[in-house]
Parts: sequence; structure tokens; C-alpha cells
Amino acid sequence: MKSFWSLEIGKHKEFENLKNNIQADVCIVGGGLTGISTAYYLSKQGKKVVLLEKDRICSRTSSGTTGKLTSQHGLIYKYLEDEHGKENAKKYFEANEEAIKNIEKIISIENIDCDFEKKNAYVYTCFEKDVEKIKEEIEATKKIGINSEFVQKIDLPFEILGAIKFQNQAQFHPVKYAYGLIKSIINNNGKIYEKSKVLNIEKEDKNYNVITDKAVVSTKNVVIATRYPIITFPGYYFLKMYQSTSYAVLFDTNTDLKMDGIYINSEEPKLSFRSVKDGDKNYLLAVGYDYKTGTEIIGNSFEYLKKYVKTFFPLAKEIVSWTAEDCISLDKIPYIGDFSKIMENVYVATGFNKWGMTSSNISANIITDKILGRENKYEDIYRSSRLELIKNKDEELNMMKEATDSIVVKRIKGTETPTCTHLGCKLSWNALEKTWDCPCHGSRYDEYGNVIESPAVKNTKVN
Ligand SMILES: Cc1cc2nc3c(=O)[nH]c(=O)nc-3n(C[C@H](O)[C@H](O)[C@H](O)COP(=O)(O)OP(=O)(O)OC[C@H]3O[C@@H](n4cnc5c(N)ncnc54)[C@H](O)[C@@H]3O)c2cc1C
Repeated sequence: MKSFWSLEIGKHKEFENLKNNIQADVCIVGGGLTGISTAYYLSKQGKKVVLLEKDRICSRTSSGTTGKLTSQHGLIYKYLEDEHGKENAKKYFEANEEAIKNIEKIISIENIDCDFEKKNAYVYTCFEKDVEKIKEEIEATKKIGINSEFVQKIDLPFEILGAIKFQNQAQFHPVKYAYGLIKSIINNNGKIYEKSKVLNIEKEDKNYNVITDKAVVSTKNVVIATRYPIITFPGYYFLKMYQSTSYAVLFDTNTDLKMDGIYINSEEPKLSFRSVKDGDKNYLLAVGYDYKTGTEIIGNSFEYLKKYVKTFFPLAKEIVSWTAEDCISLDKIPYIGDFSKIMENVYVATGFNKWGMTSSNISANIITDKILGRENKYEDIYRSSRLELIKNKDEELNMMKEATDSIVVKRIKGTETPTCTHLGCKLSWNALEKTWDCPCHGSRYDEYGNVIESPAVKNTKVN
């Protein structure tokens, strides 16, 4: 299912695939917003950058996103203060605010037409039990100097009991923005290859060989920007992350839709809303009903979304629908920086918890600074090798069990169920999308066993 944003990809000429061995200062694996933003900053600094994308640019989560640019990541600041301390909560806020400003600046410098609009951001509730949580969040935000506000009315046509408002947030068209960055990368002699799948990264002396299906990039630095890292050992990200899928439906509400904000509810199931401009039309994008990828799907979440939206926009007609997944870190902070202490000059950016529009810019800056030997004030809170910050013990135990199960399952011969080529987990059949999904780490395959989503790199056998 192609997203609305991905229609933009078809308007651009495909980059050739990598056929011959080449050299680079930095090889970036993955052409979503993380890889592209990193290539943008590094190529501006005169680095010889090669970006390898297995499919088309932005063909995965960066075109399946809602495209909100905000430091308001649900009700996160009370959690961050309680679990990571006030200083880190403040830094997290500042990093994301700076990312919004960076993106706005890039749009202006590079003259990118990507429907960037300033909006207020709201986390709202329609339930009495969550009003107190919202008030506590406001208190937490005030403690670290965030200018938040409690409101009881928003631009969505239903009653709410309360919401936390952040001013000066934004929304944009993520793929138009990405192609704006690409224009600059090319002007700065960066090289982009599409349909070039990376199979492995091997060390040779002081350099790395990034091996694709047809050729090799020899490079000093590697950036793994494949959303879920395609390298398993070392790094061990499979022990500290899982993937979660959400449903998205774009509606023509058949009303004069006017929304000053971007919205998400505080409770489960998650529901997120924004407006989307397309010519003189203004559509409503509704996203939500997340589930852990590969777990049993109960009912049809597209239908739930449609039914829900029609309760307050009775004339709403569906334009297009899609799903997308993202990596969820156990302590709610992304992993950005060194891939592993024992793989020097290899960098990673992952675990964006469905807030990767700003996190991809933060990642690009941290990784660029690391490669250029500069300090970055946000490096420490996002440190990817951290282990002591894992607070979510229940989920950690669950993931350990899944990892163990996956190894055990791999050894059971004669099983009819296809297994994941990442760590051998049994795949589950997703009848709604006709895919084989991995419940352990979120790899996905089409009905014939061709890999669609990382961390798996190889196809699987389907009987
Ligand atoms: C439904 C949904 C809504 C969201 N809404 C928001 C939002 O409103 N605001 C926000 O801030 N964030 C949001 N997010 C999160 C955000 O969209 C993601 O965090 C972000 O797009 C991730 O970007 P990425 O570049 O890291 O990953 P991706 O966009 O997935 O890019 C990774 C790329 O790597 C490529 N790749 C994988 N394996 C290989 C390989 N072996 N060789 C070469 N290439 C490879 C893939 O093809 C892909 O193009 C949302 C996420 C979801 C799922």
C-alpha cells in the first residue's frame, strides 16, 4: 500500500544502482530522512559521501509518516524527568526544538517547496482519567522552561476534556523535503545509488567494505541509517528495541477543513491527526491503532479508523491508506552515535519511537559532528551504547525471551512456518496486508518471501 507522500517519489528520476567498486569518506546505508539528512550535512562539509538505498529514496517509513515536526512527543516530559532527570529532559526538548529550527533554516537556504507550515501541537484527552496526566505533564514542562498551556478546546470537531498545547511546532511534506536535500547533496558531489541493497559491512585494515549485491564501497566511515540496523553483532540493538506498525488513512472530509494544529490523544489506542495540502484541497490525515509488528492482528484497523473519523466527519471519503513501522526504544530515547564500542567509525541512528522527523535531523547533526571530530551538546543523552538507561524491565524480559525463542525455533526442523533470515524467528501471516511479519524484531516479507523491511537483509523461503 503506497502512501500519499510516496506519490512524490514517482515524479523523480531513479538514481542508477551501484555496479562498480568505489571509494568514499563516508558510506551511508539507507535513504530515508536519516540517511539523506546526514548525507546533506556531510556533503556540505566537503566529505565524499556515497548513499546506498535498497529500493527508491524514502520508500519506507519516511514516506509512511504523519510528517509532524514537534518536540511534543506525546506525554513524554514527566516520564523523562522521572526516569532520566530534569537536565536530560530539558536537553531532549532543546534538541528537538533546535531540529525544527534547523529544518526551517534548510528549507529557506535551499529554497525547498515542501508545504512547511507552522502549527500548534496538542496532546488531548476525551477521558476524565487522563486529565490529571495532562496537568502533570504541564507541570513537568514548566519545570524545564517549556512554554506549554492547558486548553479545553481544539480545532477537531469533538469535545475534549483537556489538552496540552505547544506553540511554534510545524508540519511538512517529508518526501518533497527529502528531494530538496538530495538536490543539494548532488550539487555537493555526493553520490546516491538506488536499488542497491547492502548485504554486509566488513572491516579491512582501517577501512570498511560496504558490500552490496553487485559491488563494494570502500570507506573510512559507515552510517547505518536503515531504521532498524541491518547488522546484529556487535550492537545488540535487538535486545533494546522492537518495531511497531501504525495505520494511516487520508480523508477528504468534504468540509472546509481548517486546523491550526497537529493533534495526538494521550490514551490508547493512539490517534494522531493533521491536515494535508494538495493543490487547493485540504485533506485530513488520521494515523493510529499501533500494534507490535508481527503480533496477532485483531480486526481491521483501517476500518476502525474510518468508522471513528466518520463519527465526527460524516461525509468523509477515504483517498488512500497505508501502514508504516518504526523502532521503539525501551527507554523512549533514540539511539544515536557509535554503533558499538568495538566498531570504530561505524555510526547508527535508530529507535525514534515514531518521532523521527526531528530525530533524523538530530541524528544527522550528531553523526556529522562525530565524523568531523566536533563536540555535540546532545551526544550524551542519545548515546547509542547506553545500557544503564534501560528502565522498562518487563519489555526487556519479554525481548530476551523472544530472542531466545528465535534461536530455539531456528533449530526445529521441518516446520512449515517460514522463518526470519535475521535471527530465525517464526514469521506470522498478516492477512490484512498479505505479508509475513517477524514478531521478534519487525522484519517483514511479501507473500513470496522477498524481504521488505529491515533488519532482515535476505529473502526467506515460503512453501
Ligand atoms: C505511521 C507513522 C507515523 C509517524 N509520524 C511521525 C510524525 O508525525 N513525526 C515524527 O517526528 N515522526 C513520525 N514518525 C516516525 C518517522 O516517520 C520515522 O522515525 C522516520 O521516518 C525514520 O526515518 P529513517 O530514515 O530512520 O527510516 P526509513 O525511512 O525507514 O529509511 C530507512 C531506509 O533504509 C533502507 N534500507 C533498509 N535496509 C537496507 C539495506 N540492506 N541496504 C540499503 N538500504 C536499506 C530502506 O529501504 C529505507 O529507505 C512516524 C512513524 C510512523 C510509522
